[in-house]
This record gives sequence, structure tokens and C-alpha cells, in this order.
Amino acid sequence: MKKPVSNEKHQQRMSKVKQQIDKKIAQADKEQGVSVLLTGNGKGKSSSAFGMLARSLGYGHNCAVVQFIKGDWECGEELFFSQLTNVSYHAMGAGFTWETQNQDADKAAAEKAWTLAASLLADPNIHFLILDELTYMFNHGWLDLEKVTQAILERPVSMNLVVTGRGAPDGLMAVCDTVSEVKDVKHAFRNGIKAQRGIEF
Ligand code: ATP
Ligand code: MG
Repeated sequence: MKKPVSNEKHQQRMSKVKQQIDKKIAQADKEQGVSVLLTGNGKGKSSSAFGMLARSLGYGHNCAVVQFIKGDWECGEELFFSQLTNVSYHAMGAGFTWETQNQDADKAAAEKAWTLAASLLADPNIHFLILDELTYMFNHGWLDLEKVTQAILERPVSMNLVVTGRGAPDGLMAVCDTVSEVKDVKHAFRNGIKAQRGIEF
């Protein structure tokens, strides 16, 4: 256990910390949107992206979502966000490869989703965009990484972008401003607990 410090000492320390933090905040003065990449094997990537969508909507921003892997199963985020007027919601993709078992259909679905995503990425009226499960499009060579990274870099300067998906390629990590890797420590599923509405989907 840490030794308790006097109030005076604590106040001095915190005042120093505040000075350092305030200095860093003052230095971060670039006015531009950010690209956030959420990858890794742990749970929490897409749900974090949709948390940021809720934040953006709190400020009345114009938002859009493209889900690159979406079969016909329901999910809470689509049920909720797709009804909102400020959200342009697109559940695309043919579903998981092991469900479709058809490469040509998967590639065609990926290209269709990308065409839409590219037009949203170029749209100056969109303030916040999610490209959910985009990373899987590179695993089987369905999308050209360079084409995608270029579109990310060339998007309107004010646009905030969140990309999710496991196993993000290095090139994607390189162009995104904020990259987080969610670590899988344990997951209820492996203990036989059924996927929960509102938690898993
Ligand atoms: P979430 O949408 O819950 O934030 P995610 O986007 O991080 O999850 P995905 O790889 O997209 O994770 O998988 C989505 C689904 O798989 C969710 O139902 C999630 O709970 C589940 N899942 C995520 N990680 C794991 C894991 N390590 N083991 C088992 N199931 C997982
Ligand atoms: Mg996800």
C-alpha cells in the first residue's frame, strides 16, 4: 500500500501535473479531424466506435456508418442508430466467409461496400464516419490497401473516422492518427456463456 501524503504535498504534486497537462493541451492546437483505428483480438472495438458515434450525435454532427461484414442477423446498434435522422447507416457485406463459402460473392460485396465507403469518405458534409470491420477486406485481397489508405488520407480535413477490425495491416496502422489494440484477456463465450443482446450484438 502507498504511504499517505499530506494535503499540502498532494496539492503541490497535482499543481505540477496540471501545469504539464495544460502545456500538452496548449501544444495540441491542430484543427483537424482524426482517424482512429481499433484493432486486436479482444472485445470492444465496434462498441467503442458506436460509443464515439453517440458522442458525435450529442453535438448534432452528420454521421455515417458502413458495416463491411453484416449478414442478415440483427444488432442493437443498427436497430438504434439507423432510425436517427443524422445517421446514414449501411449494413453491407455478404456475412462471414465461413457462412457464405463463396469467394466471388464476398469480393463483389466488399467492392460494393467500398464504393459506398469511398463516396462517404469524400463527402465534406459527413463529420463522423465508421468503417466497421474494414480490416477483414484485406485478408483475402478483396480490397487494395493502397487505394483505401489514400482515400483515408485524402478525406476532408474536418472528418473524424473510426475504422475497426482484427489484424489491421501495417499500412493501415501507419496512416491512422490514433491506433488502439484491444487485448483479449478472457471472453465469456469460451466459458460457454451465450452471446448477450446489448453486449455482444
Ligand atoms: P464488440 O462489437 O462487442 O465491441 P468487437 O468489435 O471488438 O466486439 P469483433 O471481432 O467484431 O469484436 O467480434 C464481434 C462479436 O464477437 C461480438 O459479439 C463480441 O462480443 C464477440 N467477440 C469479440 N472478441 C471476442 C473474443 N476474443 N472471443 C469470443 N468472442 C469475441
Ligand atoms: Mg467488431
